[in-house]
Amino acid sequence: MSLSLSRSLPRALLRRSYGTVQAPPSAASLTANRIPPALQEATAATAPRTNWSREEVQQIYETPLSQLTYAAAAVHRRFHDPAAIQMCTLMNIKTGGCSEDCSYCAQSSRYSTGLKATKMSPVDEVLKAARIAKDNGSTRFCMGAAWRDMRGRKTSLKNIKEMVSGVRAMGMEVCVTLGMIDENQAKELKDAGLTAYNHNLDTSREFYPSIITTRSYDERLQTLSHVRDAGINVCSGGILGLGEADSDRIGLIHTVANLPSHPESFPVNALVPIKGTPLGDRKMIPFDKLLRTIATARIVLPATIVRLAAGRISLSEEQQVACFMAGANAVFTGEKMLTTDCNGWDEDREMFERWGFYPMRSFEKGTQQPAIDAASAPVAHDTASAAPAAASS
Ligand code: SF4
Repeated sequence: MSLSLSRSLPRALLRRSYGTVQAPPSAASLTANRIPPALQEATAATAPRTNWSREEVQQIYETPLSQLTYAAAAVHRRFHDPAAIQMCTLMNIKTGGCSEDCSYCAQSSRYSTGLKATKMSPVDEVLKAARIAKDNGSTRFCMGAAWRDMRGRKTSLKNIKEMVSGVRAMGMEVCVTLGMIDENQAKELKDAGLTAYNHNLDTSREFYPSIITTRSYDERLQTLSHVRDAGINVCSGGILGLGEADSDRIGLIHTVANLPSHPESFPVNALVPIKGTPLGDRKMIPFDKLLRTIATARIVLPATIVRLAAGRISLSEEQQVACFMAGANAVFTGEKMLTTDCNGWDEDREMFERWGFYPMRSFEKGTQQPAIDAASAPVAHDTASAAPAAASS
């Protein structure tokens, strides 16, 4: 039989090897595939921890990207339904004229961006926009005002509280970003029904002064503390592409990972350069850096919602899906995201259908799942144990 087969096949084909047995991996490839101890420990964890060293976060961030995203996907499955993605709509309720000097922001009064400052939107207009967002599938409505802080803004706070209560009455989660707030303002917002407060740290403590000089990193942390103490969920993340280094992205994740409790939401923004601002000529962050940051955040902040925020419109559908598979589980959707364009509801719905995602329901997030089974876990190659698996105010 074999004789007749060999006679009937061309020589080149006979020389080709069809076996699945391969030579043992080289020492170099074993090193490249090695999962660092911090990643092994993180992927085996069943609860978030708030005692990360910067070196541990760095080890995870520097894992080869294919291993990193695989581990992130496994952690994502342990802590979340990986098919559920939260759809949020972000409305600017007071545009421009801000006294701060955030180098990326179109709304700072220090830069000539052509943006016209407005007064705060009336309550009924905002509630109408929230209703439209809800009818289109958004379950979280966020409202942003371009202010340094809420000092001396009693009437505005009263109106915002009405907006908050009105949106909650629709059954939606409600978030605001109003700059710095004190304990009493946080408590008033909580009493009005606020679900979450956004206040981004933007970047690492070291790089922060190159981006903003009019308020300090510690002032930002202070606002987060007031929000947390009032019992409001913290939404705090960063902006990539500001000119920061890998160590700054690591520093940002390390900072939020060591807060008294992890933020409920960690937005990852890719800078949308605005002409007229100091960062107006910057290029988009390379996609691998964005993906690496998302995957690291997913692993280090396992129960947090990782929000693919500003800049998503510049990503291809496949890039967005890669982010979802690496642990991102929220998007901004609608007509606008503050002052920049945004992916719309219809295109997001179609994308979700194509790839098997569905919109997360209100107040659904982050129920912790039991430990993942061995079949779905990444394999540790170097030990006997398999490790289970822009805007800002
Ligand atoms: S990011 Fe917020 S605080 Fe900074 S300039 Fe823009 S609106 Fe003002």
